[in-house]
Amino acid sequence: MSKRSGESGCQKHLADQELFQLLEKVDADLTVEARVKGCLLCGGILHRSDYERKPRGGPQWDVRFSLCCAQEGCRRRHTPPSVRFMGRRVYAGLVVVLVSAMIHGMNPERVHRLREALGIDRRTLTRWRQWWLGIFIESSFWREARARFMPPLCHKTMPLSLCESFEVERRDRLLDLLKFLAPITTPTAWKELVM
Ligand SMILES: [Zn+2]
Repeated sequence: MSKRSGESGCQKHLADQELFQLLEKVDADLTVEARVKGCLLCGGILHRSDYERKPRGGPQWDVRFSLCCAQEGCRRRHTPPSVRFMGRRVYAGLVVVLVSAMIHGMNPERVHRLREALGIDRRTLTRWRQWWLGIFIESSFWREARARFMPPLCHKTMPLSLCESFEVERRDRLLDLLKFLAPITTPTAWKELVM
């Protein structure tokens, strides 16, 4: 992906309406899966209880799918994993992943142009970068998951090395990467991943 072709492939994803629709459908499937399991606390039936969530830039989604236990006295909220939203990040997950990957090895002028095009300020980009290189690689999720990758992925170029490994220029492979990351996107899992 360090080549220009890979980079434009990634940029193409960021404007791909069909991809956005596909991700929404996958999130709906993940929600059905979670609903079938029932409440993890009391075994109660889960009802749909979506909440408003409009990511900045990119996809025009407006709700995050969520569930609530119907049992009196429990009513616990269960927000399923997502391939669209990453915890409380205000940008869509694919933007956080792809942009953080693309800026590795980019000269400052091109980083600036990319930021302008997507409306992402410099501090946000710096925060994402620090997150991938620090909290993410130290997380229990990554410590368990990293053994799946042979050869081991370079931590210094995260998440570029992750994107290259998944070959995310292909839409279906990007979806695989977002599914791989989905476990960390729930509010519960995200708590460990906040700076
Ligand atoms: Zn319950």
